[in-house]
Amino acid sequence: MNFAQTLSKTTLTFADRPAISKGTMVIRNYGELSHRVAHLASAMRGELGLKKGDRVALIMTNCVETLEVLYACWHAGLAAVPVNAKLHPREFGFILSDSGTRACFVTSELIDSITDARTDAPGVEHMIDLGSSNYDSLLQRGTIEMEEVAPTDLAWLFYTSGTTGRPKGAMLSHRNLFSMTMNYLVDVDVIEPGDSMIHAAPMSHGSGLYALPHIARGANNVIPESGGFNVAETIQLIGHWQGVTFFFAPTMVTRLINSPDIDTADFSNLKTIVYGGAPMYLADTLKALDLLGPKLVQIYGQGESPMTITGLPKRFFLETNHPRYHDRLSSAGLARTDVEVQIVDDRGSPLPMGEIGEITCRGDVVMLGYWKNPKATANSLKNGWLWTGDIGIMDNEGFLTLKDRSKDMIISGGTNIYPREIEEVLLRHPSVLECAVVGRPHPDWGEEVVAFVVPHAGQNIVSEQLDTLCLDHIARFKRPKEYRVVDALAKNNYGKILKTELREKLERERAG
Ligand code: AMP
Repeated sequence: MNFAQTLSKTTLTFADRPAISKGTMVIRNYGELSHRVAHLASAMRGELGLKKGDRVALIMTNCVETLEVLYACWHAGLAAVPVNAKLHPREFGFILSDSGTRACFVTSELIDSITDARTDAPGVEHMIDLGSSNYDSLLQRGTIEMEEVAPTDLAWLFYTSGTTGRPKGAMLSHRNLFSMTMNYLVDVDVIEPGDSMIHAAPMSHGSGLYALPHIARGANNVIPESGGFNVAETIQLIGHWQGVTFFFAPTMVTRLINSPDIDTADFSNLKTIVYGGAPMYLADTLKALDLLGPKLVQIYGQGESPMTITGLPKRFFLETNHPRYHDRLSSAGLARTDVEVQIVDDRGSPLPMGEIGEITCRGDVVMLGYWKNPKATANSLKNGWLWTGDIGIMDNEGFLTLKDRSKDMIISGGTNIYPREIEEVLLRHPSVLECAVVGRPHPDWGEEVVAFVVPHAGQNIVSEQLDTLCLDHIARFKRPKEYRVVDALAKNNYGKILKTELREKLERERAG
């Protein structure tokens, strides 16, 4: 079944309901959205000459056209390649060329960047500016029937965020998208027509993926006027729409709760904030709960198993009297309904509960493999299991705690040290806004621990205080040997801290 069926079924029943809004204004109802999708799909196959399975890139800041282009690709039997709008032209060029994209839909302000990128991607035949009459004219043609597809046909080529090296294209099939959608509806939240999902995070990534269950259930997809995340605007939109859901990276949650605007905000229309994609520290989770109410759901996933490996549903945030309440909130929750999770050793043998190893998972949500990269596929998919590259531990009640990416783990004196544990402790200090702990090569120990710490605006950080905090909470050998106070930490376009850059900086200092 073609995933675009979810839109046509919603339209049958809820044609008059709002489907896409901008700011506080409804732009299209479901009837109009479906009509435009069928016309655009027809133009893609007719006028643009695209054939079944061809790749179509979406390089857009979040906009009202994003979802119509996405569903038109599927309706026409094409594969969508949503690309983060904040990438560099060279990165656009790499993705366009690697994916073999033939047509590219672009928001007007990115046209110059994509024009530059096209020199690296000569295979791109059509570049369509969404603000142009050319785009409007594609919507004037006739319609086509929805293309028949196999469950394993490519639907979404998801380029990983690439915190190290070049991004890889995780191939997501129609079946993968169905599985992700069903898992949302079963584990994350119930969605009703009239609810709203506000897309403040990039739709090329988590927010766009979570538009899918919202379309399947007839909810309204709201694009902020700014096309992104702005605390004042976010609060205003929550006040306007009903049953509001967001997908936020943890840094967005912390920006919201640390904003002075929070004191006067009304969160009664806020239904759910789903957060994930990077660690959220316990202190921030507790503060968010306190300020927003029990509206948080955590998910752990990756492009290779989109949004769906484990999850921590709302009920566990409410069990404040549970003896392991804090441990549970610090965990990434339970294996999702349609996913099996195993912690394994280097050879892939399952480890007993409570032992640390690499997180592997399997289920219908797991990608087909990496696009044109059999070597990377063979490293990640083994005997039907996805090796996530994340290190974790599962307790005997099924809660998975993420330690770190395997490459971020520090080995000092032959012992594994998980930076996240130290970061959790440092964040307890009231002056610490953000921190990142990495390993620095050391002649005797292999590596030693270094902490980069960002203070809250106008506050001082005294290393001795941080050291005392660590001595109070973690084993001596895990304590950072240096605390380095910095103004900011480099992040990628998804808000993930680039630890590779910190390690390289330390390496350079050592060499120079
Ligand atoms: P991406 O493919 O860009 O979505 O990145 C996925 C990676 O982000 C995962 O492999 C984890 O390392 C990290 N990640 C995702 N969700 C969480 C979470 N809830 N807590 C901590 N790290 C996470």
